[in-house]
Amino acid sequence: MSPARLESILNYADGRLTPPASGRFLDNFAPARGALYGRVPDSDERDMERAVAAASRAFPSWSAKSATERASWLRKIGDAIESRAAELARAESQDTGKPLSLASVADIPRSALNFRFFADAITQFSSECHSTDQNALNYTLRQPLGVVACISPWNLPLYLLTWKIAPALAMGNCVVAKPSELTPLSAHRLSLICRELGLPAGVLNIVHGTGRKAGAALVAHPKVAAVSFTGSTKTGADIAKAAAPAFKKLSLEMGGKNPNIVFSDCDFEEAVEGSLKAAFLNQGQICLCGSRIFVEKALYPRFKRALVERAKALKVGDPEDPDTDQGALVSETHLEKIESYVRLARQAGGRVLCGGRRAAVNGRCRGGWFYEPTLIEGLGPEHQINQDEIFGPVATLIPFRDEAELVDWANRTRYGLAAVLWTKDIGRAHRIAAKLQSGIIWINCWMLRDLRTPFGGMKESGLGREGGLEALRFFSETKNVCVKL
Ligand code: NAD
Repeated sequence: MSPARLESILNYADGRLTPPASGRFLDNFAPARGALYGRVPDSDERDMERAVAAASRAFPSWSAKSATERASWLRKIGDAIESRAAELARAESQDTGKPLSLASVADIPRSALNFRFFADAITQFSSECHSTDQNALNYTLRQPLGVVACISPWNLPLYLLTWKIAPALAMGNCVVAKPSELTPLSAHRLSLICRELGLPAGVLNIVHGTGRKAGAALVAHPKVAAVSFTGSTKTGADIAKAAAPAFKKLSLEMGGKNPNIVFSDCDFEEAVEGSLKAAFLNQGQICLCGSRIFVEKALYPRFKRALVERAKALKVGDPEDPDTDQGALVSETHLEKIESYVRLARQAGGRVLCGGRRAAVNGRCRGGWFYEPTLIEGLGPEHQINQDEIFGPVATLIPFRDEAELVDWANRTRYGLAAVLWTKDIGRAHRIAAKLQSGIIWINCWMLRDLRTPFGGMKESGLGREGGLEALRFFSETKNVCVKL
């Protein structure tokens, strides 16, 4: 494609759209075509300096606005996202390779909702007051932190970026955001929206570039008071290390290797459909995907047959085709990583029940990065395939004997993000939910979200919680005031 026809993305800082200080750009690919289609700023510490300085200048007046005024800005942004939903969904689908139908019903509506939800939440936010025995009154102030960093991944680009930006702004902070360099397009469109709406300069800044350069410069900046990060556990550890000497506040949402647990007494149809969706939605590229499917032995053969049959029926194809269930994977490197895990599974004696190879898609998507939905059995819970986060359309099936064995195996991982349970025995469901080492447990459902609930993982999946008041508390400093009466 000629440079003139490439989609050009710019940084948004101090209310203006600008190229990076280096003048250098990174290539941006459309995964469904495996083709170059855009240029992303390759920003460095100079761009971050400019954005952080703008955010610092904007902070006194933004934080002084009433909660109602800030909420009104958030609502305007949410409305603008909604009014451009079709265009944004197309951008998201093109940039990630995900089905347009999914971006249209999930990514974009949720991005608008994130702004509206926190617009409401900030006007309802309250704090504590303690009347003490010694004739004194304590009250707790929650004040904005200043400039905060929001760093997001490629799998749900606008959805996860706005999930951070909205509470940070609502609480009165100014934001420097660094979206994934693999999927910058929807964040760029958000920049255009904020500029058109006339959001005061510096309140929100979106700077593009690699994690190693732009992301690291943002985390290291001395004026950045807190970092809200979603991405891999490895990057989370790097960020924690970089932020530790300055004791920056950290919220880390990281990887998962989630158990999807099926008992014989489940509603069979619901469990099969739910497990299929939990394994393969967004090509299995959701941190909450149930990639280890544990099935009670008595049900195992029947469940396996049904799940394999449905996985084979999923249509892998052009993301713009409304009949497509599975789009492309985000990059060729990611596709190769998935291939290498399936190779490893085969070498270890794992049986590939379906998929296990690239999917051929014709027409304009001939060169795209597609992989067939893949189910593997025959590997124990300790095997690397059942330990590492693959983050693609690959799930394993593991039969279990009883509750005790199941809980032991489900918890035998360094991750602890989400778990799914399919059973009609409600006593057992509650018992197991209490024993599972996961921040989120779904019983007879998956991805049913209420934005007020605490969201996040334990162990190597996360530090802190997002969502509802938890997010507003994260993006604020707590101050107790004690008054002798
Ligand atoms: P990643 O860690 O490679 O990148 C995430 C973001 O961090 C990107 O913007 C990247 O540029 C930036 N980054 C990378 N190195 C950095 C550094 N040293 N300093 C600052 N920023 C840096 O993750 P990814 O591949 O984009 O996303 C996939 C991962 O995200 C998976 O592990 C998935 O489980 C996880 N994820 C978690 C959640 C959750 O809520 N727990 C949600 C979605 C995705």
